[in-house]
Amino acid sequence: VIEIGTPERSVVTTCAYCGVGCSFKAEMRGEELVRMVPYKDGKANRGHSCVKGRFAYGYANHQDRILNPMIRDSIDAPWREVSWQEALGFAAQKLRALQAEYGRESIGVITSSRCTNEETFLVQKLARQVFGNNNTDTCARVCHSPTGYGLGQTFGTSAGTQDFDSVEHSDVVIVIGANPTDGHPVFGSRLKKRLRQGARLIVIDPRRIDLVKSPHIRAAHHLALKPGTNVAVLTALAHVIVTEGLADEDFIRGRCEWDAFQDYAEFVSDPAHSPEAVEAMTGVPAAELRAAARLFATGGNGAIYYGLGVTEHSQGSTAVIGIANLAMLTGNIGRPGVGVNPLRGQNNVQGSCDMGSFPHELPGYRHVKNPEVREIFESLWNTKISDEPGLRINNMLDAAVDGSFRGIYIQGEDILQSDPDTHHVAAGLKAMDCVIVHDLFLNETANYAHVFLPGSTFLEKDGTFTNAERRINMVRRVMAPKNGYADWEVTQELARAMGADWNYSHPSQVMDEIAATTPSFANVTYDKIEAMGSLQWPCNDTYPDGTPIMHVDGFVRGKGKFIRTEYVATDEKVGPRFPLLLTTGRILSQYNVGAQTRRTGNVAWHPEDLLELHPVDAEDRGIKDHDWVRLASRAGETTLRVRVTDRVAPGVVYTTFHHPETQANVITTDFSDWATNCPEYKVTAVQVTPSNGP
Ligand code: SF4
Repeated sequence: VIEIGTPERSVVTTCAYCGVGCSFKAEMRGEELVRMVPYKDGKANRGHSCVKGRFAYGYANHQDRILNPMIRDSIDAPWREVSWQEALGFAAQKLRALQAEYGRESIGVITSSRCTNEETFLVQKLARQVFGNNNTDTCARVCHSPTGYGLGQTFGTSAGTQDFDSVEHSDVVIVIGANPTDGHPVFGSRLKKRLRQGARLIVIDPRRIDLVKSPHIRAAHHLALKPGTNVAVLTALAHVIVTEGLADEDFIRGRCEWDAFQDYAEFVSDPAHSPEAVEAMTGVPAAELRAAARLFATGGNGAIYYGLGVTEHSQGSTAVIGIANLAMLTGNIGRPGVGVNPLRGQNNVQGSCDMGSFPHELPGYRHVKNPEVREIFESLWNTKISDEPGLRINNMLDAAVDGSFRGIYIQGEDILQSDPDTHHVAAGLKAMDCVIVHDLFLNETANYAHVFLPGSTFLEKDGTFTNAERRINMVRRVMAPKNGYADWEVTQELARAMGADWNYSHPSQVMDEIAATTPSFANVTYDKIEAMGSLQWPCNDTYPDGTPIMHVDGFVRGKGKFIRTEYVATDEKVGPRFPLLLTTGRILSQYNVGAQTRRTGNVAWHPEDLLELHPVDAEDRGIKDHDWVRLASRAGETTLRVRVTDRVAPGVVYTTFHHPETQANVITTDFSDWATNCPEYKVTAVQVTPSNGP
């Protein structure tokens, strides 16, 4: 029992972990946060929360936080604590000198889906207005960039179509490449409630996640596909629906481009896409595939929820398109209970994408090639915006190794730990003359930094996060920033040190600028969010109170567009040296690379990452439960303990990536999505052999 005493005041704010966006009451005694209580009026969580959010405040007070700015002349030199003024002046002078010597394009920024909308907007503005280039990217590059491409092409905008309430009207639900009860627990609970009420469930996942079989819940179908074959499975489902006459022709004729549908129907009808033809390749029995397709097409309101098991593949964008095709094919768009719903991993993935942090898009998903859109920002910012997309993260690192890219400002992202091909990331960072890391802790990337700017936690600043249902939630300052500045203020001071005339005194003014430049946010103000509790974009003159469900009368692009989804096998192949396929995921108590949750009480629930190995594969190798093993791929190797379990199929292994010792990205390859460069984290050919430990 923990005695917390009586709180003196409370502040309602938003969880900074996953894309559910739960509201909490932060209860305070003086300047001490004593408890986080799920907020009963929170529209995303309705008084519920998970163990991550409840104890999130632990990392805000952790002794590892760096509270003073630091600089050094080289990455071999010791850090030197300096004033904010000296650190920002040092960074600004270095960045300007690099541009003078190597050109305007020689520097860039990376924003984070952990930060607020306002902070993200300012970081991309720093690149576009102050640096004068489009070299801005976001950590969403390595998670949901294929969602941006796939839903943009088919529906016209990159966003989930539904609110969370919608699931209460679903009759049949597909969960593909997601594990909501661990990754998005509060939404997972709502889904389970609906399933207990009788909705049918189809799980498409290589691993037997809890939803497949848990108390009172049995999935109607578990399509336990081989990692990397999502597109083949989705196309086979469409094959059954089209060839058995189960498509919703009224919806398609009224709402979609008919010519594109006919082309798609011809494509999927090819016997090569039948369940029988793809059974051996996908590992899914044809009869299961046929039954699942029939259930989804005829079972009533059908909703699809998906996660990084869809996007983090060499065909991530194609799979997202396949999901959108399936929803249109069955008329499951534009009303409660249906839709296409990307479950965003981080708190503000949706927002960081909305805010123009991709190098080819200005805020509101508008391409930099569009002169009318550029003109909006050029006249407001008194600058010239290039019509050429800037560099993606991987391109920045490539250019750094080549010598043309020399400096970077990274806000809230540990690219050394979270991006693919760790050796290449390190080489790129090492080649740069000025790496500025703005973060809470001296993360792995900071080993290669010349400037360290201390970050502020979500409890120390005002702003907004946008959750997976496009809901803009208020983030309220609960306590004063321990480092003296909120992150948006640090970015503003860096811009000023480089000569910009920025004078924001509160994030609400940044939101006013977002609203003035971005049609989907046109009617969003802090006053309105406060009055309504939250707002779902689009929020403009057409939808003054926001939009819980999108594409009700028509798609954002006008008519929905079917696109062929040709399956192309990944280049990552199993063979005699690497006979198993590794896939990765998360566990309930931990969050991503663990930088926060490992610094809270949650670490007790998951002190190490384990490798799940099927009993048959374990016996073949003489490996027992909890033994140490060496996990090796073509890219690298690591050591971890084993959990022998039939949650994975023979030939498949699985691990989480919450602890840096696991070095999961030393193992993964540098293959990536063909359209967006999102890394193929979910398929790596590996070998597992006994080991004596690290
Ligand atoms: Fe809610 Fe996600 Fe935070 Fe858990 S981690 S409390 S589900 S927002």
